Amino acid sequence: MIVVLLGAPGAGKGTQAKRIEAARGFRHVSTGDLLRGAVGEGTELGILAGKYMDAGSLVPDDVMLGLLNALLDRGSQGAGVILDGFPRTVPQAKALDHLLEDRGEKIYRVIFLDIKREDAVERLSSRVSCPKCGSIHNLATSLPRADGSCDACGGPLFRRPDDEPEKIERRFEQFQSETHATIEYYRSQGRLDTVDSGRSIDEVREAIDEILDRNSGPQAAG
Ligand SMILES: [Zn+2]
Repeated sequence: MIVVLLGAPGAGKGTQAKRIEAARGFRHVSTGDLLRGAVGEGTELGILAGKYMDAGSLVPDDVMLGLLNALLDRGSQGAGVILDGFPRTVPQAKALDHLLEDRGEKIYRVIFLDIKREDAVERLSSRVSCPKCGSIHNLATSLPRADGSCDACGGPLFRRPDDEPEKIERRFEQFQSETHATIEYYRSQGRLDTVDSGRSIDEVREAIDEILDRNSGPQAAG
C-alpha cells in the first residue's frame, strides 16, 4: 500500500509518518532519507544524486523516480510505504502515477495535512533541537529542563535557522506555490483526503487512522 503525505512545513508530516510507521508497520520514506540512503549505498543513481546535492542543485525528477523504483523493487517495505516530501509538483505526481502503473501498483490514498500559516509559524518557531543527540523539543507542548537543556542528554538546545518565523513564512509560501496544483490534481481525481492538521497530534492521528482503515477495508478493493 502506498500512501502519499502532503503538508506544509509545520503540518506534522514527519511526526505522523513516524507514528504510522510504528503503529502499522509501514515504511516512512522521506525525500531526504531516500537520497541519503542511495548516496550512502553508492548505487549508480545514488552517486548521480550525490553529485547534484554536492553542487547544491535539485535532484532531477527522473533520478528521484529511479531511486523510488529501486526502493520498491527491494520489496522490504512491510505493510506499505508512506511517501513524505515527494511528489511536490504536478509533473512529479504524474510521473509517479506512470511509474506505479508500470509496476502494476497505485497510490492508495493521498493525505493532505492542512495547516494555517499562523499555526505553522507558531508551531515551528517554538521548536528547538539538541544538536548533541538530535532530539526535538517543542516549547509549546513539552518543556525542556528548567535550565533549558535537553531532556534526553542535557545538551544545549537551539532553534534551527530554518525555524525563524520569517523563514517559516517563506517555506510556507514556497510549499503553497509549489504544491497547490498538486493538491488540486489529486483532489480532482477523488484521491485526496484533507485532514485539519491544526488540531492536536492525537486528533490528527485518529483522523489519519480513520482514512487508512476506511480505505484498507474489503469494500475498497479495486
Ligand atoms: Zn540531547
